[in-house]
Amino acid sequence: MRCTELATSDRKGHLLLVEDERNFARYLQLELANEGYEIDLAYSGTTGLQEALEKDFDLILLDVMLPGLSGTEVCRRIREVSEVPIIMLSARSEVPDKVAGLDSGANDYLTKPFAIEELFARIRVLLRKTQDVETDEIKIDTLTIQPHARRVFRGQEEISLTPREFELLLFLANHLEQALSREQLLSAVWGFDFMGNTNVVDVYIRYLRNKIESGDAKKLIHTVRGIGYTIRA
Ligand code: CA
Repeated sequence: MRCTELATSDRKGHLLLVEDERNFARYLQLELANEGYEIDLAYSGTTGLQEALEKDFDLILLDVMLPGLSGTEVCRRIREVSEVPIIMLSARSEVPDKVAGLDSGANDYLTKPFAIEELFARIRVLLRKTQDVETDEIKIDTLTIQPHARRVFRGQEEISLTPREFELLLFLANHLEQALSREQLLSAVWGFDFMGNTNVVDVYIRYLRNKIESGDAKKLIHTVRGIGYTIRA
């Protein structure tokens, strides 16, 4: 029980482990859970592939010799649709196996038996690489802003914003949890020369709220009485 609690409270990443040797799979699951990872298990190539395609994992650990589909085949099929980091685990140390694994699109390859610390290190490296690619992104709760691509997502769903709405959201997001006055927002987003009324800020905040906080989505843009607005998770 302790492992599950740790995994959810201090979550470093959601991993899928595809491994048919159940005792070994459970051992790895416990060790990884203690490290703060959340682990889903699959005991065959077929269920592993199904899980991999259905859920959004941060990394996949894939045994090579599996019932159903081989690890290499599972890897190849995942690669047709996803760039999720994959580490292949194999009991065999032959070079052709390793080449086949990497050819099928795996990012790394580990030969059993391996030291658990070695596995942790490889996982950390791959997760860090993925994060580096995404450092461009701003995340607030389930809201994701990609400043360079000028794209915005709430959860998986992309939200279409006008250029002005986007600038307003980006300015708020770049000043996370800061109370911003209407005048500040106006000059930052509309420019100092803007002659209109600060009411335009309220109007655009309403547009933004309608778009990024629609349905049951948690409220992120908050009104700061007597000042203006702030964004926070
Ligand atoms: Ca196996």
